[in-house]
Amino acid sequence: MIQRTTNFSAGPAVLPVPVLERVQRELLALPGPRASILEISHRSATFKEIMAAAETNLRQLLSIPDNYTVLFLQGGSRLQFSMVPMNLLDGPRAQADYIVTGSWGRHAATEARKFGDVRMAWDGSKANYVCTPADSQIDSSPSSGYTYFVSNETIEGVQFATEPATQNSTLVCDASSDLLHKPLDISQYGLIYACAQKNIGPAGVTIVIMRNDLLARSGDALPGYLSYKSHADGGSLFNTAPTFAIYVVRLVTDWLLNDIGGLEEMHALNKKKANMLYQVIDQSGGFYQGHAQADCRSLMNVVFRLTSDPLSAAFVKEAAEQNLAALVGHRSVGGIRASIYNAMPLEGVEALRDFMIQFRKKNT
Ligand SMILES: *Cc1c(COP(=O)(O)O)cnc(C)c1O
Repeated sequence: MIQRTTNFSAGPAVLPVPVLERVQRELLALPGPRASILEISHRSATFKEIMAAAETNLRQLLSIPDNYTVLFLQGGSRLQFSMVPMNLLDGPRAQADYIVTGSWGRHAATEARKFGDVRMAWDGSKANYVCTPADSQIDSSPSSGYTYFVSNETIEGVQFATEPATQNSTLVCDASSDLLHKPLDISQYGLIYACAQKNIGPAGVTIVIMRNDLLARSGDALPGYLSYKSHADGGSLFNTAPTFAIYVVRLVTDWLLNDIGGLEEMHALNKKKANMLYQVIDQSGGFYQGHAQADCRSLMNVVFRLTSDPLSAAFVKEAAEQNLAALVGHRSVGGIRASIYNAMPLEGVEALRDFMIQFRKKNT
């Protein structure tokens, strides 16, 4: 047996072991073409079947309505920070609303300002990004091109429990670190996207799910690669698709459907895992301090600090000695971040919980 660490990396992040085993088994030769997924054409029948299966799985898992297009793009979520305003802010709608609950939303708003007016519909920066807004606090405008939010702020560990209610009919969501962690009502969204490398697969592919009527907003003057319409017209084969990453997304979505049983089951497991850690934090008498307010904390990224930086550093070091890896918080927040995406097994979280209890005993 190969020894693997329990990997709490924020991204690229842990993948299901059965998926990695299947990649390993098939890497030299896929059953049909007897060549590697790394060696076949993106226009081959075999790859087209793989991409179609990935899309079918996503449509099944998320019950994606027929009037939505699924795209597999490159450039990561960062490129979506630009593509969203470039495509959706057409002439009469040159203004967009941003609900900013953390670092990724702030970066996205910065990019959007290059293409139109950004209205801050809500900004959590003054409170250090510890919560999401109540619906009554959101100042959105029906005449804006769209309202943008980040469902799960990966760095601060702040997550929306439900979609924000807005005055605007086109809701755009960066779901990079939580898409597929629970069922969603896709019809509430104009466009929702996620890079794969947190919760869905390896780096290299970004999934975009968008309502078909929004494709009409992509202007003809846009560079081809930056137009949603070119990708939709080309069936995500406008240019060479990230074939390996899409193949792994197909395997991960197979795993969600067949091994886990769907997103209801995945959500139940995710709640169980996260509650296990938040309970230790809440019962630690201040030894562990969670970053987010209790009603907005993330099921995916558990962010907390200890009473001093040296103690946080000792926590990370001793955890690593016990095979619990990549727990150091993002440099902008400090402290500890335990990313416990779909593929993190319950046993991994139990091991971290036990370590947290033991570390507190030893240091109080
Ligand atoms: C990681 C992340 C990004 C950036 O993704 P890249 O693929 O590196 O561009 C954007 N938004 C969120 C919420 C993320 O977690």
